[in-house]
Amino acid sequence: MQFSQIIEQHDLINSLIRIYDKRRLSHAQLFFGDEGSKSFALALAYAQFLNCSNKIRFKPEDNRPIIADSCGICPSCKKFKILSHPDLHFIFPNTTTKKVDSKNSSELLIGEFREFVLKQEGVIKLNDWYDFLDVGNKQGTINVRDANNIIKALSVKSYEAKYKIMIVWCVDKLYYDAAPKILKILEEPYENTIFLLVTDDRENILPTILSRTQLVKIPTLRQESETENKYLLLFVEWLRACFFYKSKITDIVKIIEKDIIKLGREEQKQFLGFALEVFQNSFAIKMGLTTSLNLLENTDQKFNSNFPSFVNQNNIEQIYKELDKAILHIERNGNAKMIFLDLSIQLGFLLMIK
Ligand SMILES: [Zn+2]
Repeated sequence: MQFSQIIEQHDLINSLIRIYDKRRLSHAQLFFGDEGSKSFALALAYAQFLNCSNKIRFKPEDNRPIIADSCGICPSCKKFKILSHPDLHFIFPNTTTKKVDSKNSSELLIGEFREFVLKQEGVIKLNDWYDFLDVGNKQGTINVRDANNIIKALSVKSYEAKYKIMIVWCVDKLYYDAAPKILKILEEPYENTIFLLVTDDRENILPTILSRTQLVKIPTLRQESETENKYLLLFVEWLRACFFYKSKITDIVKIIEKDIIKLGREEQKQFLGFALEVFQNSFAIKMGLTTSLNLLENTDQKFNSNFPSFVNQNNIEQIYKELDKAILHIERNGNAKMIFLDLSIQLGFLLMIK
């Protein structure tokens, strides 16, 4: 699949190309959008572009909305087109079928998956996949065999391509016993391997995955959701108090008691996941990677223009760690008030680091 086959997403495509050109490619990227947002098709076109040996560059006089594309005809592109390049791997939700009646894995259903993706021209939905497999109401997962297969596939050298590509579709369907293995792989990147994680269900992504990936948000025609706005306002208010934690500790306590506690554990985790995204996005802006992947569009201008200047290479890792730790403690039923209070002070301290 080529970028030119995906209409409507030119700004995002150009951002992805610029990231590649600046050699700031992250080894793990999370493509997320709403269902039908072509997140998978984009990941596929991106993978083909990365490995194309004869990339096309467009000049302004070519009058094309995108700045570059894969060629579509080199040996690598030809194999990507039919989804059978030896360095292109797919992991996707799977379950038992008539053909595979036990020990199901993505590996055993790869033929069906290729056929499905080609039939749908890359724009795929989970329910259509289950219909295609004819599995009734059964729901699939990405299981521990899939995680083991990823490790197996990655431990051999790439056959012919520059990058070995692992596309994990619906990473929100990661089964709990497979998650630690995947997290470990994301933490300790393999050489020349790019993970493209894809989801249309961001709410159910493990926050620990969010912190280990570069986010690629696929915009939809619909504006920011209400949930996002709700978290955004709370985030801005809370973080403003954190900046002045030494003099505003009572304000922090008030925000925690009045607004954060009442969210409940699940939403507290989502809120922290959202906070992670804002930090990642701000760091990407700071590094000059992007302006268009901006999650902060709806905040007031002052916060929007000031905030990225507080995030830098000296504090970002520690900020991720503190957020990760808070999410973990919330998951383990820790005292939410203490967890958020501690986090607020840590963030306030970290944001002062230049
Ligand atoms: Zn090519």
